[in-house]
Amino acid sequence: MINQDITNYMANCFKNVTLANQPNGQGKFFADKSYAFDTVFFCSRFISRFRFGNMFNKHEYKEKSNNYIKDLFCLQPNAAQIQNYMTETIALLCFAKILKASSIKQGVYEIIDDDLLDFISTSFENAYIFQYLLAYSVFHNDNLWDFYKEFCKAEHTTDKQKIYDRYRHKYAITDTRVKDLEKGHAMFTPKFPMVVMNYINKQNMCSRTGKVQDNLVNINDISLNQEGTRAGSLANLMMPKKNSYLQDFSISYVVESLRPFLTQQYDTFKNIQYSDSYSIDIADVKLDMLDSEGKTSERKRKMQSGKYKKTSTGQIVRTVQGEFRNSLFKITPHTCPICGFKYENFLIASHIKPYSKCDDTYDAMNPYNGLLMCPICDKLFESANYITIDCKTGNVICDSTIENEIDFQYLRNKQLPIDYIDCERKHYLKWHNDQYYKKHSI
Ligand SMILES: [Zn+2]
Repeated sequence: MINQDITNYMANCFKNVTLANQPNGQGKFFADKSYAFDTVFFCSRFISRFRFGNMFNKHEYKEKSNNYIKDLFCLQPNAAQIQNYMTETIALLCFAKILKASSIKQGVYEIIDDDLLDFISTSFENAYIFQYLLAYSVFHNDNLWDFYKEFCKAEHTTDKQKIYDRYRHKYAITDTRVKDLEKGHAMFTPKFPMVVMNYINKQNMCSRTGKVQDNLVNINDISLNQEGTRAGSLANLMMPKKNSYLQDFSISYVVESLRPFLTQQYDTFKNIQYSDSYSIDIADVKLDMLDSEGKTSERKRKMQSGKYKKTSTGQIVRTVQGEFRNSLFKITPHTCPICGFKYENFLIASHIKPYSKCDDTYDAMNPYNGLLMCPICDKLFESANYITIDCKTGNVICDSTIENEIDFQYLRNKQLPIDYIDCERKHYLKWHNDQYYKKHSI
């Protein structure tokens, strides 16, 4: 049950993570929601549930995730911070290279480490183990580990305070997000990894304002679902507060998973108390409720259409053709733009730049990289073998082999309505034109 393999695997995955590498939108280290293990667990489990194929669309599930967070953390329905739980968790998962932003504007993320996402979303303890190893790796890579060892060794709070002050300064100048050393999160972000690590290493609590307290970090300090965090009236909440997972948290399981990475010595546990049922139940009761609302059948369909296929280069990729087709149906008329064919069941979601040639999921899933076509026009257009559509004019350009064919006379002087040649599609059609001219240049 203790999976030392995954612990080592994870430590290896994080061996290059650093505070100096937080490019905009591509990931962020702990923030004031995502340092909490329950936040990371709940949000990861949501992502696992509502992913399709290797994608997660944050915007599409915004309302559901807000609803989920509101109930699990007993927040006021319109509390401004609700969306930060998911946003900051996603940023953390990107930082850890578990997710990758495909299109920040559209809120689309690619899941690039399935194993780790599964691991984190399986239990609260696993979410904590993930966070610990991430903090541990950052400390190592950013030369903060010596401070941390010193901090743990120091006996008196006053000595720890001096080390903590030096650590915070070093942290702030390393964190690329910090603009002003004396302001805002420069002052409080160093607290997060410290508190996460201090919990299992039995070290003192450190405050946002930089004070080392006399008490040790306890489980409440690394979670957000605690008594006293609910503001205002609770009368309209759907679910009673369920935070007894704080008491059920299996320290023995966590210690045995993290033992090589701890500064604190623990004796060997005679037996490990661990049950994964409870933490999962809390999340799944709510996920099931959300999942049974509205678009369930549509989402299931999306899941089913997430197949594997082999590309021409022999690479195995997941396809999400059904999803691509659905989004194309939303943005274009249900008609083949070349010949006017209308029977929907036969309309094909044709990629302009083929799926196998797309550099990322954004291109692969972008409906503007597609046209709904009848089977014949799709065949002509595919791989730019016979026709292309001029990206500037919308004119259909035919090659000489079909130009004089009696069956294809309708292609002559054919021009697509200007609506089809909008900005993004123009970009993909340009690619298609280039392919066409490459093939027909001889
Ligand atoms: Zn057609």
